[in-house]
Amino acid sequence: MTDRYAVIGNPIEQSKSPFIHLAFAKVAHQDMDYIKLLAPLDGFAAEVDAFRAAGGKGMNVTAPFKLDAFAYATDLAPSAQMAGAVNAMKFEGARVYAENFDGVGLVRDVVHNLGCPLQGKRVLVLGAGGATRGALLPMLAEQPSQLVVVNRTVAKAQELASLAQQHQLGAVPVVGLGYEQLQGHQFDVVFNATSASLTAQLPPLPASVFAPGALAYELAYGKGLTPFLKLAQQAGVTHLADGVGMLAEQAAEAFAWWRGVRPDTTDVICQLTVPLV
Ligand code: NDP
Repeated sequence: MTDRYAVIGNPIEQSKSPFIHLAFAKVAHQDMDYIKLLAPLDGFAAEVDAFRAAGGKGMNVTAPFKLDAFAYATDLAPSAQMAGAVNAMKFEGARVYAENFDGVGLVRDVVHNLGCPLQGKRVLVLGAGGATRGALLPMLAEQPSQLVVVNRTVAKAQELASLAQQHQLGAVPVVGLGYEQLQGHQFDVVFNATSASLTAQLPPLPASVFAPGALAYELAYGKGLTPFLKLAQQAGVTHLADGVGMLAEQAAEAFAWWRGVRPDTTDVICQLTVPLV
């Protein structure tokens, strides 16, 4: 019997998840199917119920249903609890196990694929939405020397920073700031986790934040040189990356969780990469 998996969202046409998981399945010799499921905005639970009733084994969850999946799950992993959102589910009888692999996927991409350890680095994260929420604890586990979250709505940055400060295992200083407070500060790794790039906008980031030798990482993917990456390039940053590796790595984490085999992501990243020009 072929095991069935899916990604659920609205819209869903753009999703690369079936391509990624079917490529992993082929290489790992796994007998599995993976489809796209378009759920009505008010119909997440009904769609998941039907998929489970038909024998579905697991699901990835994308916008706008990550909070619905959080409410739907019976067993939330710490990653999902901290993120307040779910991006992967596993179905076993009446149990719905839920994880959020976005943060761990991001960190794995940076540390392993890009060869940029976060240990001892000054790290800046732009944005305080779902992606940042999921990424803070995995970043802190790498023991940077400091972690600053900056957001347009400053209170959200402060709230997330204090949550992460409380839940981390180490003692890395974590602060939440507004963009104007970044003047005079420099960072070794700067992540753009705002959604500004999706509409070709640039957060009000001073170009002086990039330290010599910095990595500028755009979480959005497939958009080429976004305004954020352009700003970094103009500031002299040569190490630029987008979120294609994060996408592949969070998928690999889910695949390993479902199937017990961790696939290599190199081919998938290569095939999905859009040049940063
Ligand atoms: P959310 O909608 O949860 O959060 C958006 C954040 O962006 C908020 O902090 C918001 O600030 C900020 N923002 C939006 N527009 C601007 C702007 N013009 N200037 C400054 N700040 C702005 O989004 P997500 O956290 O879910 O996603 C963030 C990014 O991460 C997206 O680009 C998404 O595509 C990417 N992503 C990539 C993944 C991957 O696998 N590569 C996985 C998940 C996300 P405020 O609070 O003030 O409104």
